[in-house]
Amino acid sequence: MEKEPLLPGLYIVATPIGNLGDITLRAIDILTRCDAIACEDSRVTAKLLRHLGLRQPLWRYDDHSSEADRERLIAAMRDKPVALVSDAGTPLISDPGYRLVRAARAAQIPITSLPGPSAAIVALTLSGLPTDRFLFAGFLPVKDKARRDVLDDLARVPATLVFYETAPRLGKALDVIAAALPGREVAVARELTKTFEECRTGSPHELGDHYRAHPPKGEIVLMIAPPASCEETPDADRLLLEAMEYEKPSQAAAQVARRTGLDRKQLYARAMELKPR
Ligand code: SAM
Repeated sequence: MEKEPLLPGLYIVATPIGNLGDITLRAIDILTRCDAIACEDSRVTAKLLRHLGLRQPLWRYDDHSSEADRERLIAAMRDKPVALVSDAGTPLISDPGYRLVRAARAAQIPITSLPGPSAAIVALTLSGLPTDRFLFAGFLPVKDKARRDVLDDLARVPATLVFYETAPRLGKALDVIAAALPGREVAVARELTKTFEECRTGSPHELGDHYRAHPPKGEIVLMIAPPASCEETPDADRLLLEAMEYEKPSQAAAQVARRTGLDRKQLYARAMELKPR
C-alpha cells in the first residue's frame, strides 16, 4: 500500500554511532519518504543510504555553511520534506544543525525530531556513574590552559560531567583531570556499539597509566563523577589541615574546593571546626 506523502518541513534524524542495526524504524521511514537529506559529509551518509537501499539527493550542510545556504534550505522546506542527519548519532549534539533549527523556527517551518542514538547517553548509561543529573559539555578545549580553565569552572557542578574526546588527546585530558580533580572517579567509554566496545572506570591516575600502556583507538566519551560531599571524602580534613598551615580558613577552603570539587561553603564550615583554637 502506498504511504501518505510526508508533510513539508524539517525532520531531524538520529543515525547509528557504529552499529547500523541501531537505525530506528521511524528513521528509515522518514529517510525513505523525504525529498532530500541535508548532511555533513555526503560520503558518510551515502554509505548509510546504500545500506538502506535508498538514493535520496544529498545536500551538504555543516558548520561552514553560510547564511545563504541556510536560507536556500529553509526555502526548500516550505514545500518539501527535508531530513537533517549528521555523520553519526544525533544531529546538533556536538554536530551541525543548531543554527538551521533556529532559522527554521523563526521561519515557522514545522520541525520534527526523531530520537535515536547519541554517544553521550550510551556512555552515561554504561558508566555506573550517577545519572540523575549530568552535564554534557561537548569537547574539552585542545590547549592545556583552556582545558584546565573549563575543568576548574565545572569542578563544583553537582552532576556527572560528560565530554566527547578523541583517542590522541585522551592521555592529556586525563593528566589535566588528575591535576584539577584528583579525587574524582572517571569513566572512559570507547568504541560504543562496535565490536571493541569498552567502558573502564578508575581514578584519573589509574586510567592515565592504563592508556599510556595501552594507547586507545577509536571514539571516546570521557565522564567525571560528581563532587562528593565533605563527609564522604576522607581526604578533605587532611587537605584542609595541610592548607591551613599556610592559609586562612577561607583561602584553605577555596584551595581544597578547587582540588576536590567539594563545595567551598561546606569546606569553610569544616575548616572552622578543625581550626586549632
Ligand atoms: N552527534 C554525535 C552523538 O550524538 O553522539 C556526536 C558527534 S561528535 C562530532 C563525535 C564524538 O562523539 C566523538 O569524537 C566521540 O567523542 C563521540 N562518539 C561518537 N561515536 C562514538 C562511539 N561509537 N563510541 C564512543 N564515542 C563516540
